Amino acid sequence: MVNENTPGGLSNGAAAEIIARLRRLYPEAKSGLDYTTPFELLVATILSAQCTDARVNKVTAVLFAKANTPKGILALGREQLESVIKECGLFRSKARHIIGACQMLLAEYGGEVPADFESLMRLPGVGRKTASVILSNAFGKPAMPVDTHVFRVSNRLGLTRGRTPREVEEGLKELLPQEEWNRAHHLLIWHGREICKARNPRCQICPLKDLCAANQADG
Ligand code: SF4
Repeated sequence: MVNENTPGGLSNGAAAEIIARLRRLYPEAKSGLDYTTPFELLVATILSAQCTDARVNKVTAVLFAKANTPKGILALGREQLESVIKECGLFRSKARHIIGACQMLLAEYGGEVPADFESLMRLPGVGRKTASVILSNAFGKPAMPVDTHVFRVSNRLGLTRGRTPREVEEGLKELLPQEEWNRAHHLLIWHGREICKARNPRCQICPLKDLCAANQADG
């Protein structure tokens, strides 16, 4: 169910049909990051900046076997942490953020990841997208994380029109009922990875091409 008009100008029916088709196309859509606790998801999400989920999962398998709590990570020390996460790129700033987040979690949140947006946003290395990912995936709270795929695919389809991730987030929240935010976010990511790729969208084989404003296929 969607509201009357999409912020991107699609008809109500077209937007609902897009979401329904994406659901059928990606019934297994979910986070690509491996985690078992909110803290593990926090660390994995910080590591995922400009890095693939597959690489993050490879690194966190090693890291979490050594330490998967704020205390444990701090006990590892910066040098060892940097050496384990090196493959993820930007490892110095990521290590700094992870250590800063661990220190704040221990000092202010009893070593637990907080389950509210404002507190999450205070953590080093955590912006709107990461806070939304954690709220949505670790705590099942309504949030709409907008990454590069969600931003691109939503705009192309005409689900929303936003010049910034924040505008896309607001547009999608306006368009979709809260209970669908989490699922829709994963569906848009999966479509962005599989078909609506950044450089060469595969419009010819896209099951949404008859509804899409940016369809580049011939028919
Ligand atoms: S038709 Fe093309 S631009 Fe539109 S969603 Fe499909 S792949 Fe993306």
